[in-house]
Amino acid sequence: MSNTPVQLKNFSQLELENWVQTRGEKAFRGRQLFQWIWQKGVEEFKEMTNLSKSLITELEQNCSLNLSTVHQVQTSATQGTSKFLIRLNDGKFVETVLIPEGSRVTVCLSSQVGCALDCDFCATGKMGLNRNLTSGEIADQLLHVRRFSDCPITNIVFMGMGEPFHNYEPVIRAADILNAKLGFAHGARKITISTSGLVPQIRQFADEGHRYKLAVSLNASDDTSRTQLMPVNKKWNIADLVTACQVYTKASSNMLTFEYVLMAGINDNLGDARRLINIANKVFCKVNVIPYNEVAEDYQRPSKTRINKFLEALEGARFGVTVRWSQGDDIDAACGQLSTVAQLKNENTE
Ligand code: SF4
Repeated sequence: MSNTPVQLKNFSQLELENWVQTRGEKAFRGRQLFQWIWQKGVEEFKEMTNLSKSLITELEQNCSLNLSTVHQVQTSATQGTSKFLIRLNDGKFVETVLIPEGSRVTVCLSSQVGCALDCDFCATGKMGLNRNLTSGEIADQLLHVRRFSDCPITNIVFMGMGEPFHNYEPVIRAADILNAKLGFAHGARKITISTSGLVPQIRQFADEGHRYKLAVSLNASDDTSRTQLMPVNKKWNIADLVTACQVYTKASSNMLTFEYVLMAGINDNLGDARRLINIANKVFCKVNVIPYNEVAEDYQRPSKTRINKFLEALEGARFGVTVRWSQGDDIDAACGQLSTVAQLKNENTE
């Protein structure tokens, strides 16, 4: 074996079963390992009390469970939202957010360090893409949050830093760990993967028959505005996106969520609302309206009156409409605000 430790958290359950067999153990030892790592969340091999002493020694000599550590936790004074700054082994950072709202406790996971998609209104997009996270690094975020939170986590969303479908395979592998009985045992329908609209991956997701829910960031109702906000629209325009969404809802029978970040003077007039109705009527969906959390200088949140007018214009549409008010905007943990650049700059100047 090489000196680099084998990072067991990057293995799927099946890969662990296969790996232990190459070490002369039975497959069920791999299942036990998987359960210790994710369900029980132990941090040291010696705590895995049902493994043989010789296997524990071998694991201690050749393997590692250390992929990331919590560098800092900030909790919103007003809303109870907590933001975790997580340090990866190569010194890079990602952020994970815990959002308690009544009986619902949501964790928002990051899938990449930075993001290549460069949406104009998004703090993460301003960082550019640094690297993809591994499946273990993604699932490890949930282990950290679970250790911190007293309340059971009810919902998991892949809406933190990064475009999840730009790191497709590790994201699906991580979702499988969250969903696995011996992993976190979260129901597939309580796990939502979000995309800015990568059409080939939406189609792949539909073809592969995953049961996880899908959210698509729409954010504009005409191609010119959407391209200005989200350069991805140059490659796959709204018509391409709608067709891929139809393929997904038909294949999965799942309702999709269109996310619509509402920005003053950009996408919040009555014409926008009418066009949004036309788009959303073509898909089995609900629309989640998110009043903008101010990050970029060029964009502002509309006034309450304007937000209400926009919502009124959507009344009576065939699809459901929800509004997500920001949680954690005082600690820059709200949608579109995650950026470790600002965070680390502040820290270095303190
Ligand atoms: S909104 Fe999402 S896809 Fe767009 S730049 Fe930000 S993190 Fe990337």
